[in-house]
Amino acid sequence: MISSHEMKLYKKQLGINGWGKQIQDKIKETSVFIAGAGGLGSPVSLYLAAAGIGKLIICDNDRVEHSNLNRQILHGFNDIKRFKTDSASDRLKELNPYIEIKLYNEKITTNNSINLVSGADIIVDCLDNFHTRFIINEVSVKKRIPMVHAGVAEMNGQVTFICPPETACLECFMPKKSKRGFSIVGATAGIIGSIQAMEVIKYITGTGVNLKNRLLIFDGKNNRFESINLFRNPNCKICGKIDRRSQ
Ligand SMILES: [Zn+2]
Repeated sequence: MISSHEMKLYKKQLGINGWGKQIQDKIKETSVFIAGAGGLGSPVSLYLAAAGIGKLIICDNDRVEHSNLNRQILHGFNDIKRFKTDSASDRLKELNPYIEIKLYNEKITTNNSINLVSGADIIVDCLDNFHTRFIINEVSVKKRIPMVHAGVAEMNGQVTFICPPETACLECFMPKKSKRGFSIVGATAGIIGSIQAMEVIKYITGTGVNLKNRLLIFDGKNNRFESINLFRNPNCKICGKIDRRSQ
């Protein structure tokens, strides 16, 4: 239950149509697994902490570098060389001392992924490489935990909401390619990460419509948003065997 002290933090969102204290209590009872505390993980965790998500589980095993600071707004100049999880935790506690933050200073692998996401109600893919994304996709499908996927590069981004068998999974539509060291302007991650946070909040509160089977594509140079339909691959090796009847 949320104390009256705590309620002051959420005053400006409690008045949203269909929201109120009951919904705020529900938000407090929710656990979100955030894979990556970088460019996307920064706006995602900041906005989810600010909204009052009860428990944020953050996983990242990198240290803060100078080149991160143009977009990774969880971290500051004085955090350089610290673990991103430590720096993230300090910043998020400063923003909202009422939430619980669980940190995993680990690399996500096929061996540890089930343990990492255990207890999470939803997963947010804030990763920067395809290899780990596919690991997280697989555990999301296997454990039936919905996942908000996003990717960014330069001034472009994409977002979708994944929850097979209702939707396609990453493996159904995403080509396996490995591109490291891309360029990016920080605001791109800010825009796309904020949309991911909205997707999580909408899912928890039951407000609005999630991006199910829709890939939202952002073209920052021309300020255009468009979405394309996604379809499940019935032969998908990850979600192909999931049956709607076994839900
Ligand atoms: Zn699939």
